[in-house]
Amino acid sequence: MYEISSERLQNTFIDLVKRPSPSWKEKPVIEYLAPIFNELGVSWSLHPCGQSHNLLARIDGDPGRKTLLFSCHLDTVVPCENVVPVIKGGKITSDGNTVLGGDDKAAIAAFIEAMRVLKETGMRHGPLEFLFSCAEEIGLYGIKGFDLSLIRADYAFVFDSGGDIGGIVLQAPTQLTMELFVKGKAAHAGMEPEKGVSAIRVLSEIITRMPHGRIDKETTSNAGIISGGKATNIVAESAYCKLEVRSINPAKLRSVEARIKKTAAETAARHGAKIRITRNLEYSGFSLREDSPVVRMASSAVRKIGKKPRYESSGGGSDTNIINRAGIKAVNLSIGMRAVHTTKEFIYMRDIASGARLVLALIDSA
Ligand SMILES: [Zn+2]
Repeated sequence: MYEISSERLQNTFIDLVKRPSPSWKEKPVIEYLAPIFNELGVSWSLHPCGQSHNLLARIDGDPGRKTLLFSCHLDTVVPCENVVPVIKGGKITSDGNTVLGGDDKAAIAAFIEAMRVLKETGMRHGPLEFLFSCAEEIGLYGIKGFDLSLIRADYAFVFDSGGDIGGIVLQAPTQLTMELFVKGKAAHAGMEPEKGVSAIRVLSEIITRMPHGRIDKETTSNAGIISGGKATNIVAESAYCKLEVRSINPAKLRSVEARIKKTAAETAARHGAKIRITRNLEYSGFSLREDSPVVRMASSAVRKIGKKPRYESSGGGSDTNIINRAGIKAVNLSIGMRAVHTTKEFIYMRDIASGARLVLALIDSA
């Protein structure tokens, strides 16, 4: 079912991982894709975003069928310069000095292979869109900076999840970041410490009292950056903390945010310090039912290539969050990458091949 060329696919993947593409510097990958799209007769356009571009490719198809969007990202986490891929018995790793970049180049390679097979076999299909976003890894900047009203798709399939092929992410959290600025009162730490209010001490108390870590199955919070003070002989006048809160459940997220604000205000007031808090919604979560059409399409395509669908909940955000937020029903599917964001990252060639077959099965099912 869905004959692909594993050898050609492997070559594409190896070519891709050898091209460095840290966030905002995806040009070498775009330059690799452009001639392939031209050769295949795929129309494509670049969309400026920050210091880079998003790439949208389209393939016309039977207008009577549903339009599908396939999406992945062009950038990789660092270290990703001079990747030396090592192939051993169907398993591909880096030489240990860099990440491999299977996140998300396995998806790019699978999409290209599917496009080639479509052209070779003349398999019938509906209108197709392929979106390659930039700067995903550092905060979903590419997709956030892309005009999603250009997308005509009824359903979207993002290939940017790990583990065995068949993983279907149905849920992902909303993420909020908060910054706490504590202002105390400076004083000489040796001569008259009683005249000072230590912002560091106040902030420490806020952090130890606020909800932190694993709050429940759906909710987490983490104080990730802290700074403050100028010298050991000065009672610290200011202290700063940046933290995040995530939850699948928006009501729980709001409740944790409120508790952090209350703890911060009460603690600061008790010590005679001032507090200023900013908050930024990084992305909204999504939650899809197992019987929703996009999920049913994904699970039946997974079965069609002989795999077992596995419903998952993610602790992190991806382009899927933004696409769902724009009103296009989207799931995030596994492309087989493993130990991602580490120099031990690896992927099995058979998983990339199944990923390419899964793309074809989805196209076939629309
Ligand atoms: Zn990724």
